[in-house]
Amino acid sequence: MEYPQEGDPDLFQNFQFWDRPYGQIVSQFGSSKTFAKNGEGFCILYIMNTLEKFKILAESAKYDVSCSSSGAKRKNKLGMTVLGGICHSWSSDGRCISLLKILMTNVCIYDCAYCVNRRSNDIPRATFEPRELIDLTVDFYEKNYIEGLFLSSAVIKTPDYTMERMIEIVRQLRGRRQFGGYIHLKIIPGTSPRLLEIAGRYADRVSVNIELPTQKSLALLAPDKKMPEIIGPMKRLDTSIRSMIALRKKHKKVPAYAPAGQSTQLIIGATPETDLEIMGLSQWLYQSIHLKRVYYSAYVPVNTTKNLPALTTAIPLLREHRLYQADWLIRFYGFDGRELFTKNTPHLDLEVDPKASWALRHPEKFPVEINRADYETLIRVPGIGVQGAYKIVLTRQVKSLRIEDLKKMRISLKRAQYFITVKGKYHGDIPFTPEDIRERLAPEKRPALQNSSPQLNFFIQGKKEEIASVLHGEF
Ligand code: SF4
Repeated sequence: MEYPQEGDPDLFQNFQFWDRPYGQIVSQFGSSKTFAKNGEGFCILYIMNTLEKFKILAESAKYDVSCSSSGAKRKNKLGMTVLGGICHSWSSDGRCISLLKILMTNVCIYDCAYCVNRRSNDIPRATFEPRELIDLTVDFYEKNYIEGLFLSSAVIKTPDYTMERMIEIVRQLRGRRQFGGYIHLKIIPGTSPRLLEIAGRYADRVSVNIELPTQKSLALLAPDKKMPEIIGPMKRLDTSIRSMIALRKKHKKVPAYAPAGQSTQLIIGATPETDLEIMGLSQWLYQSIHLKRVYYSAYVPVNTTKNLPALTTAIPLLREHRLYQADWLIRFYGFDGRELFTKNTPHLDLEVDPKASWALRHPEKFPVEINRADYETLIRVPGIGVQGAYKIVLTRQVKSLRIEDLKKMRISLKRAQYFITVKGKYHGDIPFTPEDIRERLAPEKRPALQNSSPQLNFFIQGKKEEIASVLHGEF
C-alpha cells in the first residue's frame, strides 16, 4: 500500500474521520499536522485544539443521563442543560452541584446499535489527553463554572486501557492538582477488579451503565457487552463501598471510597422489555447492590438499524416519567414493585400516576381517616407525599386536624380529596367510585410529552402540579 506523504493536497480532506480500525489510533496531538502508519492503513492526524475537542466530547456525553439534570429543557430561563457541558448531581451530603459533563473520548471499539458514538457512525471523533482534561477541569473550577466533574468515555482498545486513562485523570486531579471537587466517574463494563479497587478511591460516585435491561437485548443491540461484565463490577464496587464504610466507622483515617455510592442508567423504549421487568431490575439493584439511583433514559432515535425503533418513533418521555414516579414509590413510599402491576398490565398506566393507579385498583383501602391513619397508610394516599404525611402525624399529636389544616400543609387536596375523610367527612366533589375518580385525575391528552425534544423535558411540559411532584417527590 502506498502511504501519502506530508504535503499531499488530499491528505487532510477528511481530517476529522479516523481511518479504521479505530483501535489503532495513534496520538493525535502535537504542534503540526502529520500522519502515521498504523499497520493496516494510515490515520490522518488533525491537530484539534482543546476547544474543538470540548465541543465534540461534551456533545457526545449528553446522552448519558446518569446525573440529575441532564437534558432538562427550561424555556425562557437563564441557563440551559440540553446542550452538553454542565449537569447537576447530589453529593453524599445532599448538596446540588454543577458538574462538567464530558467524555474522555468518543472513539469506540464497540458498535452498540443505539449509540451515537458507535464504531460504525461517521461522526467527528476526538480524544482528550489527560493533561488537557485536567487543565480544563481545574480552569472551570477556578472560574467557578463548575463544582465537579462527570467523566465518562467510549471504549478505546480495551475496557482496562480506557479505565487506566480515566483513572490517571482523576488521580492527577486529586493528587498533583489537589482538586477537592465532586467527581462522578463512569466505570467501563468489563473493567478488571484491580482497577475497580483504585477507581473508587478518587471518585465520589461511580456508575456502570446497564443500558439494556436483559442479556437478550444486549445480545441484540450491544453484542460486545455481556451482562456479567456489567453486574460483576457493580457487585464488586458495592462490596468495596460497604466494607470501607464499615472500616471508616472504626478508624476515622481510612480514606473514603466512592462515598456518594453508585448509580446506573437504563434506556427505555429501544427494546421490548415491559415496565414490570424494568422495575423488577431496579428493585433488585436497590436491594441487592444498594444503588443510590437508577436513571431512566427515554430512547432517542439517533441511528437506523433494523432492530431499533424507526427514526420517526416518538420518544417515550411520558413512560420515562412514570418509571421515575414508580422508582420513587419503591425507594421512599414502601411499595414493592410488583404492587404497581397486575398480571394483565405489565406496563405502568400512562393516564394517571402509579400511586393513583394503585389506589384506584384498591378501593377497599380507601377512604382513610386523616386523624387516625398511620404514617405508612398516609403516604399511600394520592396527593399526600412523605413530607405531608410527616406533618399530619406530627400535628395530630397536638390537635385534631380539619380540612383547612391540610390546605395549610400544602397537601394536594385536588387529588387527596377522593381518598380521605377528615373527622369522618368525605370531601370529594363526586362519590368514591374508581371509574369516575380516574376521569377526574387523568389529565387531558398530552401529546407534547410523547414526542418533543430529547430527554427529560417533562419538567416543563407536564402540569404544574405534576412537575412539582417530580421535583420534590411528593405525589
Ligand atoms: S460502548 Fe457502546 S454505548 Fe458506550 S460509547 Fe461505545 S458504542 Fe456507545
